[in-house]
Amino acid sequence: MTTKINNRTKLNKVISERAEKISPSGIRKFFDLLQGMEGVISLGVGEPDYTTPWHISEAAVRSLEKGYTMYTSNSGIPELRELTSKYLKEKYGVDYDPYGEILMTVGVSEALDLAMRAILNPGDEVIMTDPHYVAYDSCVILAEGKPIMVPTYQKNNFEVEAKDIEARVTPRTRAILIGFPANPTGAVMPRQKLLGIAKVAKKHNLIVISDEIYARLTYDMEHTCFASLPGVKENTILLGGFSKAYAMTGWRIGYAAAPREIIAAMTKIHQYTIMSAPTPAQVAAIEALKTGEPDVVEMLEDYNRRRKFIVKGLNEIGLPCFEPKGAFYAFPSITPTGMTSEEFSEKLLKEEKVAVVPGLAFGRCGEGYVRCCYATSLADIEEALERMARFVKRHRK
Ligand code: PLP
Repeated sequence: MTTKINNRTKLNKVISERAEKISPSGIRKFFDLLQGMEGVISLGVGEPDYTTPWHISEAAVRSLEKGYTMYTSNSGIPELRELTSKYLKEKYGVDYDPYGEILMTVGVSEALDLAMRAILNPGDEVIMTDPHYVAYDSCVILAEGKPIMVPTYQKNNFEVEAKDIEARVTPRTRAILIGFPANPTGAVMPRQKLLGIAKVAKKHNLIVISDEIYARLTYDMEHTCFASLPGVKENTILLGGFSKAYAMTGWRIGYAAAPREIIAAMTKIHQYTIMSAPTPAQVAAIEALKTGEPDVVEMLEDYNRRRKFIVKGLNEIGLPCFEPKGAFYAFPSITPTGMTSEEFSEKLLKEEKVAVVPGLAFGRCGEGYVRCCYATSLADIEEALERMARFVKRHRK
């Protein structure tokens, strides 16, 4: 008994306060429950059910056969940076110099971490929405910053108002972190509202970190790239990636585009912690940018069919669901059951073998909702909806 207590005390001293302050991802924690269960339909983890289009994988395989297995330049293969720059110019009309304003990273995950560590001093505040992607607040805390939440609500389509951001600006505010299309809500911000945020950023001299990993997954509307808004590029760190649009989550490849000074600081940290993004993944990303467009369009059409199906289905079974405009998540309200989101998710998994993610994992405003990823087959979505319908009928208050 004594030994146990001593070990625990010792261990507590070993772990840094920074690491102690963050919690394990609510998504992963929940998915540990799944281990060893059979017959589960997962609407859980946020990744495409597609495998990477073969011609993209093949490019990497061929490069390995040719012995292309070394580190690349810290910033990434020049051709990849050039193609990324060209892509951003053609798609969104933004100009980034591939030599100094673009850094290839290990997914948007690394880019987020680098951005925070490059711009924050201890105690600096970063304003973000609640709910938000699970890594946002933890990245800020790990960089010794302080996440500041702006609640968003279904009745406002989970959009964030510039005035609500401005109301939270203090002398310690350093940045605004936005991610649209949004995980977990699927919300997309109208251009007009983004202009409002741009205005606040300019007025208070704040940096806007814009996570646009779902930029290609918007339905019936064009994506607005934050950096393309007039006069705001100098204040913006644009984050983008290949994971979602090209079904390349496991390759671990993404990028940051930002003013030279910021990219230089991010590159320094990247140099010492990562060195360079995985070489085969960079080669695959080159192929994706060169020839992957038809794949993106095809997958998008398929997600759109699934989106319509799941939203209609959830509403029909009595879980009111806001119509997501982007990404591949539905975020239905579970209030008709009177359960908390964790209770709902655990019971649904145990009783009907359907995995969803409790909304609380994404912040306090996520309570009362669950996230259902519809990047899975229509047949599975249909079966999941049948099981959920039984569940809701049994538990409706
Ligand atoms: N940003 C958002 C909003 C995400 O949903 C995810 C992954 O789910 C990431 C970033 C991380 O993406 P990557 O695979 O590029 O690290």
